[in-house]
Amino acid sequence: MRMDALTPSQLATLEAALRAMVAQLEETIEDAAASVQAVELDQAAVGRVSRIDAIQRQSLAQASREALKTRRRLAQQALAAMEEGTYGECRRCEEPIAFKRLEARPESPFCLRCAR
Ligand SMILES: [Zn+2]
Repeated sequence: MRMDALTPSQLATLEAALRAMVAQLEETIEDAAASVQAVELDQAAVGRVSRIDAIQRQSLAQASREALKTRRRLAQQALAAMEEGTYGECRRCEEPIAFKRLEARPESPFCLRCAR
């Protein structure tokens, strides 16, 4: 094991954080899907100006939903990497990612330097 590898208790902390994140994201993504649908329903009943407004709101809702899905995918990939024992390694430079960074963004596949 590398000297700077994550300790079992650090790994357990990060795994719990990732599982909580995935559960939270599932919920938020469902809510976002509901709000995209609500905007679609509005459109039938409104005039031109508010239709433009509704379209803008809808594309915002869709964009944030995509961002949430991306984050969920990263969190799921991080959990899979944990099972394989490769979690905490930067996918680009293969250096260990600092625990402080993983604490803040446990789903991050890159070290701070490579993420920039
Ligand atoms: Zn890196």
